[in-house]
Amino acid sequence: MGAYLKTIALFGGTFNPVHFGHLRMALELKEALGFDEMRLLPSHQPAHRAEPGVSAEARRDMLALALEGCPDLTLDERELAREGPTYTVDTLEELRQELGNNVSISFCMGLDSLLGLPGWHRWERLPELAHLVVVTRPGWQMPRDGEVAELLARCRGSMDDIRGEPAGRILMREQTLLPISATAIRSLIGRGRSAQFLLPERVLNYIQIHQLYKS
Ligand code: ATP
Repeated sequence: MGAYLKTIALFGGTFNPVHFGHLRMALELKEALGFDEMRLLPSHQPAHRAEPGVSAEARRDMLALALEGCPDLTLDERELAREGPTYTVDTLEELRQELGNNVSISFCMGLDSLLGLPGWHRWERLPELAHLVVVTRPGWQMPRDGEVAELLARCRGSMDDIRGEPAGRILMREQTLLPISATAIRSLIGRGRSAQFLLPERVLNYIQIHQLYKS
């Protein structure tokens, strides 16, 4: 194998709001796999999900507050600036143009997202642009047949492959998820209950000051 490439990983989501589940996942992936960069990528208006009820600016501000004092994680705002729906393939095309072919790009997703991949816009292009790092929980089930199973059979690779090639591999990584969700946080706040210890204090203060998620 030739020289290692610079490795950039992306962790996308609505982050409405960002919480410790997201932050630990991103940090653990970066440390365990040794990525040079781990970028959190808030989506503008997810094409396959309902539009979040909080402005893109507020979600960006909360992420920026959460990442204060954490140089290991950075914020990539490119999807927020884009008009219209967010397609991962467009983001990866743009990044590839910007970074060239001598950088390894990894897009991180949960196994549930991988199973739904054939529903994504121009999904077959994705492995040409980036590697996929798929996070599974202990006891996860791999698909046995269908398009995703075929993709896995063709592309499954190791972290060494990811360091040596710009795109095209799928790495499966088992990791425990903290039992926190943004939906549960929004629901707690909406019912006037406390969301303390589920997300950074600075983010919680922002939510209080801006009266977010109040029903
Ligand atoms: P919602 O409850 O609104 O669906 P969420 O908490 O699941 O939100 P998203 O912003 O939709 O968060 O997800 C961003 C990414 O974080 C996704 O890849 C998702 O799988 C992952 N994720 C969500 N919750 C956790 C968690 N507790 N631990 C690790 N990763 C998580």
